[in-house]
Amino acid sequence: MTKNVVLSKEYDRDVLIEKLKENLKEKRFNHCLRVEKKSIELAKKYGADEKKAAFVGLIHDYCKEMPDEKFISIIKEKKMDTELLNYGNEIWHGIVGAEIIKAELGIEDEEILNAIRRHTIAAPYMTTLDKILFVADFIEDGRDFPGVDEARKIANESLDDVVSFELKHTLEFLINKEVKIYPKTLDSYNEWVVKEN
Ligand code: GDP
Ligand code: FE
Ligand code: FE
Repeated sequence: MTKNVVLSKEYDRDVLIEKLKENLKEKRFNHCLRVEKKSIELAKKYGADEKKAAFVGLIHDYCKEMPDEKFISIIKEKKMDTELLNYGNEIWHGIVGAEIIKAELGIEDEEILNAIRRHTIAAPYMTTLDKILFVADFIEDGRDFPGVDEARKIANESLDDVVSFELKHTLEFLINKEVKIYPKTLDSYNEWVVKEN
């Protein structure tokens, strides 16, 4: 019998590691370990629950390699926003993935589930834990893209400023790629980046 993942206050990291290894290729698994490390660092700096930060860092991309059909059936079954059906894994693995994590790993903590839901597209309102995961995913030690060093520098100064920087960077990236922007990503951009006159 497989051990259940328990997350009330404590969780068994070894069990999570096994679950991740079952679901992810080595490269992405290693990314998760680096996001865990960065999330702990940011939680220490910005005063969030380090155990929750470590947990969300580790598990955030748990669903990234799951088949499309699995997400599509959950979107339909749970009557989620039908707009989601016009997107793909990049958007689904967070928002819909949180439902899979809830069901498969028995995670009920809404703070944790929300951080996972928001890790790709952010949200107009974000908790410190949400911001930590969103940023840790962007600046973990393995990331290498133009702007990452600036993001790391800003992350040393202000968590809100780096969320804003990241959203602007993501929108620029998506626009340059000429891909469809999920309306909720735009809502986040409007809240965090647009400066009202
Ligand atoms: P990863 O899972 O560690 O690769 O990182 P994320 O979960 O943050 O992002 C996954 C991908 O989703 C990235 O390539 C983002 O640029 C992309 N993404 C974020 N918002 C949107 C959006 O609104 N539309 C589309 N098409 N892609 C998006
Ligand atoms: Fe992700
Ligand atoms: Fe990630």
